[in-house]
Amino acid sequence: MSIKIYGAPILRSKAKPVTEFNAQFERIVAEMKQKMAEASGVGLAATQVGLDMSLFVAKLDEEVYAFVNPELTPLSTETETTEEGCLSIPGVWVDVQRYLKVRLRAQDVRGNRVELELEDFPARIVQHEADHLNGVLIIDRIPSEERRKIAGQLEKIQHQAL
Ligand code: ZN
Repeated sequence: MSIKIYGAPILRSKAKPVTEFNAQFERIVAEMKQKMAEASGVGLAATQVGLDMSLFVAKLDEEVYAFVNPELTPLSTETETTEEGCLSIPGVWVDVQRYLKVRLRAQDVRGNRVELELEDFPARIVQHEADHLNGVLIIDRIPSEERRKIAGQLEKIQHQAL
């Protein structure tokens, strides 16, 4: 399992729902949690490790979770714009606008339904990861002017990845 870097086509694909919750799936989740920890990340989506699965792991307030088939609903229109990075776009930091409060409905590693209300940083993390499962990256959420500024950097990352 390795982290895919910007330019890898799977980072632009919409992940398939997970339907089988078995021992093999649990192993994948455990491996992703380990990968995230090794990379000192706070979130990692399955598509980022080349897996076409609607799944991400996230570290929310020191606890590491796996969310399967996640669905997000904003709980208010209030947003916040803060700098974000992404393990798949190393070295790039951009200001991204996110909802301040969201409801996350998902399944856990065994397929049990979970529902959480999240605010601030945890809310930001799950929005970033849910974006990955739709093939959306932080660079899609910034003004085109900002994107032009990092175009050279992105091209370099893409070339290194190939
Ligand atoms: Zn990311």
